[in-house]
Amino acid sequence: LQSCKPKMNKDNLLLLLTVMGVVAGIVLGSLLRFANLDSTAIHLIQYPGELLMRMLKMMVLPLIISSLISGLAQLDAKESGKMGSWALLYYFSTTMIAAIIGIIMVLTIQPGANSDRPTIAKGEEKEVSTLDAILDLIRNVFPDNLVQACFRNDETVYKHVPNPNYDASINGSMATMRVRSLVLKDGMNVLGLITFSIGFGIILGAMGPEGQVMTNFFFVLNEIIMRLVKLVIWYSPIGIMCLISGKILEVANIADTARMLGMYMVTVLCGLAVHAIIVLPGIYFLVTRKNPWTFFRGMLQAWVMALGTASSAATLPITFRCLEENNGIDKRVTRFVLPVGATVNMDGTALYEAVAAIFIAQLNRMELTIGQVITVSLTATAASIGAASVPSAGLVTMLLVLTSVGLPTSDVTYIIAVDWLLDRIRTSINVLGDAFGAGIVYHLCKDDLEKIDMEVVKDLNDQ
Ligand code: ASP
Repeated sequence: LQSCKPKMNKDNLLLLLTVMGVVAGIVLGSLLRFANLDSTAIHLIQYPGELLMRMLKMMVLPLIISSLISGLAQLDAKESGKMGSWALLYYFSTTMIAAIIGIIMVLTIQPGANSDRPTIAKGEEKEVSTLDAILDLIRNVFPDNLVQACFRNDETVYKHVPNPNYDASINGSMATMRVRSLVLKDGMNVLGLITFSIGFGIILGAMGPEGQVMTNFFFVLNEIIMRLVKLVIWYSPIGIMCLISGKILEVANIADTARMLGMYMVTVLCGLAVHAIIVLPGIYFLVTRKNPWTFFRGMLQAWVMALGTASSAATLPITFRCLEENNGIDKRVTRFVLPVGATVNMDGTALYEAVAAIFIAQLNRMELTIGQVITVSLTATAASIGAASVPSAGLVTMLLVLTSVGLPTSDVTYIIAVDWLLDRIRTSINVLGDAFGAGIVYHLCKDDLEKIDMEVVKDLNDQ
């Protein structure tokens, strides 16, 4: 008991500091707005936050590869197949539920009603081919060049993040280009890397003692990265404070945009709240019969980190740590399901995209048919799978949803004004969805994992 006590205090202190970082960031940012700082000063305030993002992102690539390979190498094909199927079923169903909640909310609250814009003709902007975008998504699951798949290109990243200055002139062909590139996550083709690592890990596991050296290599690599994460995490309160205050300082006219887009934000936030407070804990409780709030408490650090960074990829190292150390989830489960979850399972993004698309339809006084509403729910799900786990990625893949029902893509500029806030909140729900998913898969596979452990112990005893 005594040895547990200092650890508890350390963890609580860290959590407290992180939450204080968020609060201090909001207060500092709001106060400094009165000082009318110039862009250099704002940049300097943001700088420690930028360093935090860089440190976290630096670990993402080795973390994804080493965790998937070492995790799968320890499982047999039957077990990984079972785990993978449960995880995919959970990802797909919760994302669809999220999109449906978004649709119900936006149709009930009607944030875009009373718009004075002229009605647009149905199906006006259909230049972007949804089929093309989906074919591209699948194409990127199989990268033709592994080294290139890891390659990061800053220019590509920012070119695809909508920017109010040039998005006003967005047109069909630009939108097509962007939708085509939507699966290149943060310049890295994460989906492709995941496919390769899964294949590699399964074969390595099947090789037995022959592949042991390689398994040990990835195992140790994973341990090293997780220890590095432990160091970075102590820097995160300062980084989060600077990220948040810098963002608040950057935003042009908070009061104006809130007035204009207030109801839209309320709709997205209500939907996200329903998903986070009722749906996810409800599913967790139904499957595991365990207290979802205790589970949530263990994830708090990752949740706050997602609010600060607006990136599920950057939060991934912390999500690992919270699940393994606070919630006691077996590493074989986290290593397999988390990298995949952080990349494809984005409930918050799907909900947000569905709300945004129907909100834009309401603004343009366009009545959507039932068929179009169903299309929105399906494309919002697909777009969330395709979205990168980086800030504002959901805005880029929104183009897929908008064009699938012929809505004007230029209206994305309108909702950009509040995306800095909604992005953080939907990212925190994305992370929560991944975490509950890992908890559920662990519960469903726990007995099999224990059996494997017992067999290993038995084999060792026999030897
Ligand atoms: N920022 C989100 C994430 O990293 C993606 C999005 O923009 O919706 O999960």
